[in-house]
Amino acid sequence: METARAARDAEDMIEVTGLTKRYGGALAVDELTFAVKPGLVTGFLGPNGAGKSTTMRVILGLESPDEGTALVCGRPYAGLRRPMLRVGALLDAGNAHGGRTARGHLSWLARSNGIDRRRVGEVLTEVGLDGAADRRIGGFSLGMRQRLGIAGALLGDPEVLIFDEPVNGLDPEGIRWIRDLMRSMAADGRTVLVSSHLMGEMALTADHVVVIAGGRLIADAPMAGLRHGGVLVRAADRQALARELRRHGGEVRDEDGGLRVRGLSAARIGELALAAGIALRELTPGGRSLEETFMELTGAVAGRAS
Ligand code: ADP
Repeated sequence: METARAARDAEDMIEVTGLTKRYGGALAVDELTFAVKPGLVTGFLGPNGAGKSTTMRVILGLESPDEGTALVCGRPYAGLRRPMLRVGALLDAGNAHGGRTARGHLSWLARSNGIDRRRVGEVLTEVGLDGAADRRIGGFSLGMRQRLGIAGALLGDPEVLIFDEPVNGLDPEGIRWIRDLMRSMAADGRTVLVSSHLMGEMALTADHVVVIAGGRLIADAPMAGLRHGGVLVRAADRQALARELRRHGGEVRDEDGGLRVRGLSAARIGELALAAGIALRELTPGGRSLEETFMELTGAVAGRAS
């Protein structure tokens, strides 16, 4: 049983290896490697233009890579038999035909993918569109379109779910609904990859984050791991303190008029400052928001690229 479960887990992963995608001469994705595991919500984070959608389109076989591979359930998407039963995706909520009803659209999707008609009613209920099932999609709000897009993704009851910026333009109730849905899909043992350019949103949703900027990987870590921002310290003589902390193995960088220190505890920093006769004005462990961590990570790459 355990072995079967482990084998299934390996099958349900998304594996991106050395992926490179160019548009003309411009690199959209640059030797990107990461894996997305079942049972977790993995946030795919990066500023606009980082290469998130491109990566997702390659995973879904909508673009071909210039180099590297993107496997889903152990194969390239195009090699999956009946892919809607393995992978559900929400890329662009605006792509359903406006003249169809929600039920009509889902019935057509079910029919063309060999999925039992009964699933249509089930997913309409699951996404809260029962009351609007027989209305034309053309009159739907953005939130209703997102729900319909998600209904389509869930139709084949797939193990792997890929959502590109699903909360864009939603009201707080819709955002909470999508967040709860992703959490429950992961709790069911499914593989959930969701992109966002908002770190704050991911903090509430994701167990694990893959951060990219300029098409390159800059972090692949459990969400909890990103919360440890080191120690913020301010001193009368900042330069002298930075030298002293580096001499004792601290990783030090300037931040907001003070120093951000990693690799030394707050207590140790206090002792070293005292021993060196440097007066401290502030000594704050952690103390940074995820948003700031994200800005620092992505800013570092932007700086390197220029
Ligand atoms: P993100 O989803 O992180 O906002 P994208 O994957 O959409 O980023 O874009 C990554 C880069 O690739 C951007 O510089 C974007 O302008 C470029 N790009 C994306 N799609 C195309 C395309 N079809 N043709 C040309 N350039 C593109």
